[in-house]
Amino acid sequence: MLFRDLVGHRRLTHLLSGAIARETLPPTLLFTGPAGVGKWQAAIATAQAANCEQPVRARGDGVASQADAPDDQAKTTSDALPVDACGQCRSCDRIARGVHVDVIVIEPDDRASIKIDVIRDVLSRTGYRPFEGKRRFVLIREADTLEIASQNALLKSLEEPPPATVFILTTAVPGALLPTVRSRSMTLRFGRLPQDEVARVLRERHEYSDTDARALAALADGSIGQALALADTDISVLRETALLLLQETASRSDAQGRLQVAAAVAGGPKKERSREDLAVVLRITASMLRDLEAMNAGADPRVLANPVVADDLRALTGRFAGTRARDAFTAVDRALYALERNAGTKVVTEWLSMNI
Ligand SMILES: [Zn+2]
Repeated sequence: MLFRDLVGHRRLTHLLSGAIARETLPPTLLFTGPAGVGKWQAAIATAQAANCEQPVRARGDGVASQADAPDDQAKTTSDALPVDACGQCRSCDRIARGVHVDVIVIEPDDRASIKIDVIRDVLSRTGYRPFEGKRRFVLIREADTLEIASQNALLKSLEEPPPATVFILTTAVPGALLPTVRSRSMTLRFGRLPQDEVARVLRERHEYSDTDARALAALADGSIGQALALADTDISVLRETALLLLQETASRSDAQGRLQVAAAVAGGPKKERSREDLAVVLRITASMLRDLEAMNAGADPRVLANPVVADDLRALTGRFAGTRARDAFTAVDRALYALERNAGTKVVTEWLSMNI
């Protein structure tokens, strides 16, 4: 993965590229942000650009202005990156295949943890200068899975970095790291990608049709990884549930009826819907409410996120006129927020069915 191929995050990419060009890369970097937005790919790109045998360098002008541009305004591929890997030399190839001797990758084991033995083994290899690369990289994926003992073992190396070694930790849950680990790292925050950008990547790199790409992007919460994971789940069932939620709450105002809707959405005691699936149902509901608002405003049907249920939604436009769609959207957003912070699925669906 090269800097120029990363999706979004132009400001961060330029920051990293500039630091490599000036040889001022900090010894410990912490890449935080939602799963699937490109943190790991950025870590690989950093290791490649720093170790490339034939790095591509910018000609010099326009670099500063590009680096200052916000992510969404500079998303086109830019050749003004201070330095980027070639993607073809032996070093780039080995890093891409995960077999470069100086680029050590640590990932959680099948019990979703990184044990102290693994960290000790890696640290014992970092006492010497890099073998063939210019810089050694220790890339730790899902660093929140580092056990406390592992973090403590790592801490000493973060305090006194081994020669020519850069640690990059990536995580969606930085709060799971010891404050001492976080304070010794330079944190780069990777934000969610714009929906259009996710859809474009699904079309151009993963061969989705325009309709499918837009539908997935609307649910993916700014993450290409999530969009691809969603493609493997049966969206149609979850979409029907979201539609049911809107149809039933629109026609029932009594508390009893609303609680029945909640039970149907939550899946009942025998077949309770998973937290992840419920989150997708809520995101679909939110995107349908946006569609309803767009329909009521007379928008072009081609901009809808849920074209496959356009007729069902059209039948609901009268019920969601005025500020109703916007208010319901706010309620769904609050429910999603609570769900992401571990509120129970039953509590969330009941609250939502009364407030949508
Ligand atoms: Zn190269």
